[in-house]
Amino acid sequence: MEQYNVLYRKEHKLKNYERKFTFFVGVLFVIFSVFIFVFILIKNILLIEAGILVSTTLGTIFFVNLLIDFYHKDNTNRWIYVNYKLNYAKYQENICSHKPSILEGFLSKIFKKNWIHSAIIMPSFIVFYIVMVIGIIGYQKLNSVGLSLVNFAPDISWLFWFPLLWLLTWLANGRMWCQTCPFSGQAEWIQRMHLWRKSSKKLGLNLRWPIKYSTILYSAIGFSVLTWVEEFYNIGGPGIPELTSVVLIYIALLELAIALIFQDRTFCRTLCPLSAPLAVNTMISPLGTFRAKDKEVCKSCSTKDCMKGNDKHFGCPWFASPGSVETSPFCGLASDCYRACPHDNIDWKVKRFPWIDDVIGNNRKRLDIALSVLILTGVVFFQFFNALPLYTMIDKWLSYATGWNDIARILTPGISKYGFTTYGYPMPLDYIILTSVPLIIVYIVSNIRKNDDVPSKAILTSVSYSMIPIFASSILARNLPKLLGGALLIFNEVPYLDVKSYHGIWYTFLERLGSHPSSATAEWWVLIVMEAVLIFGSWLSFRISKELSKKDGIPLSYYLVCDAIISLLFILITYWMSSPDSSLYPFYNKYLGNLIYNPLNADPPF
Ligand code: SF4
Ligand code: SF4
Repeated sequence: MEQYNVLYRKEHKLKNYERKFTFFVGVLFVIFSVFIFVFILIKNILLIEAGILVSTTLGTIFFVNLLIDFYHKDNTNRWIYVNYKLNYAKYQENICSHKPSILEGFLSKIFKKNWIHSAIIMPSFIVFYIVMVIGIIGYQKLNSVGLSLVNFAPDISWLFWFPLLWLLTWLANGRMWCQTCPFSGQAEWIQRMHLWRKSSKKLGLNLRWPIKYSTILYSAIGFSVLTWVEEFYNIGGPGIPELTSVVLIYIALLELAIALIFQDRTFCRTLCPLSAPLAVNTMISPLGTFRAKDKEVCKSCSTKDCMKGNDKHFGCPWFASPGSVETSPFCGLASDCYRACPHDNIDWKVKRFPWIDDVIGNNRKRLDIALSVLILTGVVFFQFFNALPLYTMIDKWLSYATGWNDIARILTPGISKYGFTTYGYPMPLDYIILTSVPLIIVYIVSNIRKNDDVPSKAILTSVSYSMIPIFASSILARNLPKLLGGALLIFNEVPYLDVKSYHGIWYTFLERLGSHPSSATAEWWVLIVMEAVLIFGSWLSFRISKELSKKDGIPLSYYLVCDAIISLLFILITYWMSSPDSSLYPFYNKYLGNLIYNPLNADPPF
């Protein structure tokens, strides 16, 4: 009876904590929504943008919590896991351990040093502050095609850094950015009160994010919301420099606030809008994450220093046990576990081609990761679809028909001073519908035929895992025209950081080479690279589908139908959106562009 009472009191306490948490977030959501009205009255576009960012973040947390409460009644995070197994034991044996290790010789010594992580963060930390300041004090006007191609801040952010994030998936590891991230770096330094030394106390309240809500879903939805804000305010074009700075400052301050209230890297585990895409991409990267060498050593280890830390070293700030493949999406490559393990049982290895072991070897698939893959793929689907003439027609019509264009005008006071006008693109309704396309397709296919052996939740999760390479390849393909057509332009600005002319030395050189520096459009061959990346992603998805189908006992057709529909959409739209904007070509279609044309005439979109 006594035991029952203790359990009851504990449950009650947890429930109270969750309720207070959601209530508090809800109140803040209302307060910041009211602030937006105040900012509208004083007609300050920077404050309105900041208000929208804060209130949508709070709104996301609030509504996701309500949804979880509706769906799952107890205080655990059991709702996340899809506990369904068939041939797991056989598969565990078949998956080869990763090799070779990169922690050999010099690197093994250097990663044992406490200062190494701060040293890795420092360069991006310095660049981040330069970008933040230049974005505010630098030249603000856009050129005749609505782009900013002379301010270092938006250019390095959107022509180089953002595309590079997705290239990292196959260059090394999707989470490599997290290893050097300045937002989390500075928050961690402040929280730990030192750049590298282990201190006995941490700054802040050190509260625990309720376990029931420990999900990456906020991040995936946050990425979708941020993409909408970015498109609406023409931030990532590269567009208005000040607005890029507001986004960066907002993420840095939010991360700092969360670090001062909650434990360690709670922000990275839950809220950071980049966390979900980087988490899923890391599962198919050639370079693995930090992992225990020998699980048997871990089983007999009583101290678990890798997680808890010790006198000299911190434990994992990401709460990601290095002992299991299931935690690979949450390893931020912080390397604390490598230093803390007293048994030297941590390694960092290169995976075997085709680098999909972390997906097929995962015995505890997570519903929140599966939903994140679908949401994120939906965001990229929108970014493809919006390049078709058909989209602009629908979007404009909806915007005027619903009166959204009037609201958009109120939310963008003074935007014309930057040389930009908007009719309200993207209209939120069509944005929500288009970003839901992958979710709708996979949901319908998972439920189409009653399968008594496998619950539809397990089918949806397994099929979504197979789509990880489709997401990774499509987001990379969509960003390639910027990287390959415009990234070199940032060299034009380095000597000055803020040039008011579109004619620097590097600019002239690029022009001589046949580039188009004032519109930064990409050459025809980028279309071929985009298609190749998409086909590679589809092939990887097929490989994963075959393995998961056998392992999870789900007919291959479920995977193939979903993967084929979505892959084909990406491949076809890439071709159509790159078509030269001319009705003189045969097969011209006013909704899709030129249906059939010679790729040598391609005009990959910016
Ligand atoms: S999750 Fe976000 S804030 Fe955390 S390290 Fe990665 S990019 Fe930085
Ligand atoms: S401290 Fe080392 S041996 Fe112990 S659980 Fe962690 S990785 Fe395994």
